[in-house]
Amino acid sequence: MIENLTFNVAQLLKEPIGATRTGQVVAALRRLAPDLAQSEAAPDGAIAGPVRLMHIDNGVLVQGFLTGQVTLPCARCLEPVSVPLDVAVEEIFTSTIDLLTGRVVTPEEEDRALWIDEHHILDLTEVLRQDVLLDVPLHVLCREDCRGLCPTCGENLNEGPCNCEPETDPRWASLAELLKKSE
Ligand SMILES: [Zn+2]
Ligand SMILES: [Zn+2]
Repeated sequence: MIENLTFNVAQLLKEPIGATRTGQVVAALRRLAPDLAQSEAAPDGAIAGPVRLMHIDNGVLVQGFLTGQVTLPCARCLEPVSVPLDVAVEEIFTSTIDLLTGRVVTPEEEDRALWIDEHHILDLTEVLRQDVLLDVPLHVLCREDCRGLCPTCGENLNEGPCNCEPETDPRWASLAELLKKSE
């Protein structure tokens, strides 16, 4: 997989307002959101899709729709579960250089993740990182009736009962007492 999260918009910004470019975004989730999974394992998978870049006043409007799959641990049994991921992107990136004069301009936009850098590179990494974190479900189950892990031995109860002693019912316990006495 060849990642692509940056676009050089120098040429686009020289064109009239309203000019567009299309591009393809490919991002590995492992790098984009390593803190995503609750378990130790980083999420596996990628998101990809087309984006459209449009020259607007003072910057570039980016719109795109990315799809992918993310593998997350089941909340009960920790088995990997593949979850579809849809990420809609719509952001305005602001120029920090006046293309005509070459002068540095300080954008009104305070979020530096939305600045086009001095080499006219527009970087979607931070925007996508936030979008992905918002879109990924926090709680996934491998199936609705997942039985989870035995709290005592940790065995996966979907694969059958474990060898742990079943919890003793207090009523049986008193009966056992009686039996012991009568012996
Ligand atoms: Zn499960
Ligand atoms: Zn057990």
